[in-house]
Amino acid sequence: MLWVIRCDGTAGNGATMGRDDLTPPDGPYAELFLQLADLIEAESEEGRPVYFKTTIAIGSEVAKVGGTIFEEDRIFVDLYRRDGAHVPGDGIDECITLAHELGHVRSITEGHVTLEQWRDFRDVDALEHPTSASAETRADYLAEEERAWAVAHSVLRDLGFEDCETFNEIRRRELEDYRCGLFGSHDAS
Ligand SMILES: [Zn+2]
Repeated sequence: MLWVIRCDGTAGNGATMGRDDLTPPDGPYAELFLQLADLIEAESEEGRPVYFKTTIAIGSEVAKVGGTIFEEDRIFVDLYRRDGAHVPGDGIDECITLAHELGHVRSITEGHVTLEQWRDFRDVDALEHPTSASAETRADYLAEEERAWAVAHSVLRDLGFEDCETFNEIRRRELEDYRCGLFGSHDAS
């Protein structure tokens, strides 16, 4: 389930960073990672900059690797890293995660979701039974996840990313987890 992520809050973890402080993964995905980080940073607006965070995820039952935190005066893109805030995870996973989070950031900067809706989504994440949230909020939340995946797909394609199989598998798994968590069924939408 997506709802059981626990993040370590130890010193040095979760500090906000600019794009230049973000350690890219080694290997063939380093360049794509930095291109995606540039696109995310480019969404910064006056009075609402976009920062990065890396958080050590502990006790997680799933391989969820990122999140977007939307506040009145700033946006954070958070990468969850299992082995340390500056120890990148798998290159392809981190690139797909950044592309997906870019989708959320654009939903915010392009006005597809409001700060209030975003807070509602975070509240749903914190519920023991997400199906108890209002039907409208759950539908909005799933629509937002689908929108972020659509942006991820088009941005990665434009940047020359070719591993559609891995992308489709991660998108399918993530959306299925959301559908199941929000609607209590893998079939509902
Ligand atoms: Zn998402």
